[in-house]
Amino acid sequence: MNKEGFEGLNDAAFTRTDLKGTTNEASYAGALSFMRRKYTKELSGVDVAVTGVPFDLSVSNRPGTRFGPEAIRRASAQHAWGPIWPWRFDPFDALAVTDYGDCVFDWGQPTEIPGRIEQHIATIIENGASTLMLGGDHFSTYPTLRAYAKKYGPLGLVQIDAHRDVEADAGGRLDHGSMFTYALQEGVIDPARCIQLGIRTCFNDEESHGMKVVYADEVHATPADDMAAMIKDTIGDGPSYLTFDIDSLDPSTAPGTGTPVPGGLTSFQALSIIRALKGADFVGMDVVEVSPPYDHAEMTSNAAATIAIELLCLKAWARGARPREMTK
Ligand code: MN
Ligand code: MN
Repeated sequence: MNKEGFEGLNDAAFTRTDLKGTTNEASYAGALSFMRRKYTKELSGVDVAVTGVPFDLSVSNRPGTRFGPEAIRRASAQHAWGPIWPWRFDPFDALAVTDYGDCVFDWGQPTEIPGRIEQHIATIIENGASTLMLGGDHFSTYPTLRAYAKKYGPLGLVQIDAHRDVEADAGGRLDHGSMFTYALQEGVIDPARCIQLGIRTCFNDEESHGMKVVYADEVHATPADDMAAMIKDTIGDGPSYLTFDIDSLDPSTAPGTGTPVPGGLTSFQALSIIRALKGADFVGMDVVEVSPPYDHAEMTSNAAATIAIELLCLKAWARGARPREMTK
């Protein structure tokens, strides 16, 4: 708590004036934005705009990820206190981060939605900010990648997921299992700089499509530092995007998702890999597939919020943030 106490500090989502820094408020009260960042459509001076894509019309099993962004925001409130362990700095001292609100679309016009999402993301990145997108089902990543590819050209991709999402289909479908096939066909992602890790399904996986595929057993057998080195080696120095499908985590860690697959990562494993990626600076990032109706005790949204926060720590590190010294 600040020395002054809580009084006058609540509702930073609409009372804060400085885009940087953290102001503490009661975790159980106040206006909910992601990490109490300022809710604004202003993009001038913004390093990262957090934005929700509450879209769940392309799921193959359980729905509910339209409630993901608001649940992740709610879960983030309990972590909005300042320095983040084990980084030992406040990412918001180094990065101006805002909550841009959610992408709006007409659920009755589903074929228009991908274009809406792409335009939403394009508006943000054309104004100089990058995005941390909160899904939404994983299809949301595809129009997001299209917006990024228009700015940066073919992208490297780090996909942490139980599924490869590269099923073959006739095209033009809203399906969270085949959208990376479209991204490959359209040259939105460069397969030689793509790595998929945590995979533990083999539906339609006869082809690697030129991507590096690291199945869950290999991730479990590989130290985080070595995994991170493999990731960096794959994506190289070109513009790259990181997408974190929450079903990469084991259902015992993240039950609230549409297509849970046992045998996945613990939150510690996933966070260890992210922490070991220090030096990487992704042009855009997302956390998708959180389905709160299937969650218990906010386990999944809490894990997702923590992953999102540490992805911001990773970007803050790339921009020069370093740990506070322990003085004694
Ligand atoms: Mn996925
Ligand atoms: Mn998945």
